[in-house]
Amino acid sequence: MIRTIALLLAATSTAAFAQEAPPLLPPVPPAIVALQHAALADELGYKLAEDITTELGPRLDGTPAEARARDWAVARLRALGFANVHVEPFTIDGWTRGPESADVVAPYPQHLVIAALGNSASTGSRGITGQVVGFGSEQALEAAPDSAVRGKIVFVSHAMTRTQDGSGYGFFGGPRRQGPSVASRKGALAIVIRSIGTDHHRNPHSGVQTFAPGTRPIPAGALTIPDAEQLQRILSHAAQNGGQPVTMHLTLVSQSAQAPSGNVIAEIPGRDPSLPPVLVGGHLDSWDQGTGAIDDAAGVAITTAAASLVRSMGQPLRTIRIVWFGSEELGLFGGLDYQKRHGNQPHYALGESDFGSGRVWKVNSKLGKPREAEGRLLQAALAPLGIVPGSLEDAEGSDVGPMIAAGQPGVGLSQDGTYYFDYHHTPDDTFDKIDKADLQQNVAAWATVLAVLAGPIGSEPKRPAQR
Ligand SMILES: [Zn+2]
Repeated sequence: MIRTIALLLAATSTAAFAQEAPPLLPPVPPAIVALQHAALADELGYKLAEDITTELGPRLDGTPAEARARDWAVARLRALGFANVHVEPFTIDGWTRGPESADVVAPYPQHLVIAALGNSASTGSRGITGQVVGFGSEQALEAAPDSAVRGKIVFVSHAMTRTQDGSGYGFFGGPRRQGPSVASRKGALAIVIRSIGTDHHRNPHSGVQTFAPGTRPIPAGALTIPDAEQLQRILSHAAQNGGQPVTMHLTLVSQSAQAPSGNVIAEIPGRDPSLPPVLVGGHLDSWDQGTGAIDDAAGVAITTAAASLVRSMGQPLRTIRIVWFGSEELGLFGGLDYQKRHGNQPHYALGESDFGSGRVWKVNSKLGKPREAEGRLLQAALAPLGIVPGSLEDAEGSDVGPMIAAGQPGVGLSQDGTYYFDYHHTPDDTFDKIDKADLQQNVAAWATVLAVLAGPIGSEPKRPAQR
């Protein structure tokens, strides 16, 4: 492979690289270049992420902590000079965890580290005991006869490894998303899975799962990756040593109830309020074990700082709407409520930052054929930040995903997720995991996107606002 490339280089010199460049990208207005430079040195995003994680801490969906976070957000967004700051409330199917533990009772008694998955049924405080039956994948569990599972504690592993784009999360997330429903349908007593993550620390990765309609909720938890590997070894040693059954005592105490939540919305009014707004944001809620730093204090901080920077360069043509979505983690409740209220109104574009604070490396957009030139301008404007042009027919985002899927225009900035799943949904999702320079590159990227989409900036220059 290496020799082929060397020969190719010798034969074609630099022409080989030139041909790989995308179609000629348009020139970038100097005001956008200046904004990008300012954003790379701007402190607001990093400060916001610090303040959210420090002054609010964990903010699980529907809890008093999330309500406190909304009040805090309203005050901070007003203090930052945003207009029309308000909360759109909604009710969710809430869930909270209580005491949780997992112990192998026989044949090799020992403690394992576990966390309940969202919407897990409760074992009650006395816990349950059952025989463990192991599967190497969700597919293997699906294929097993019900008789192999009935009345047992199902254990499902998987082979997720790290990738830059985080694509392993979709495929290898099956044991968490569908595993509990499959196990329940087959009559399992409970399910424990290998955490959906890429680290090797004894930190369990939580995350939501939703029982399929008509499925009886059962206790469902995630073992840390070292503990899942230990359980795999325990099962195989027990099988080798005379086929002894492995039994586990599992305690996952939790509560489910309707709970209040809401989206926090703020705007930079555009010069022409009749034009559809550009929406960017992240989600304010977080899992309960860490302080929700990379998921998703970073996202709200990045997009809010970006919007604030654009405002400091002058009033944009189009309104910029910031949304700090509520209750993303337990089921995209905030995104769905926003869609219910505003999904029929046109938006100029939707974008969300919800993949940590790793550097942006690719831009995708889905603005429609007539706006392809705008997509190319985005590509050109982002290239100096090391961001490669991606698709012009595709964009992604968690809370905004359903609206983009329903036909609203969107922009997606792909972040480097190589290390994201080391910390995602664990007690280790804390502020120290955010790299300041990486976060500032994100702010610069989103400020660029907003400056391109919200219309000419700098045409009404004014002194940068006090931020
Ligand atoms: Zn998130």
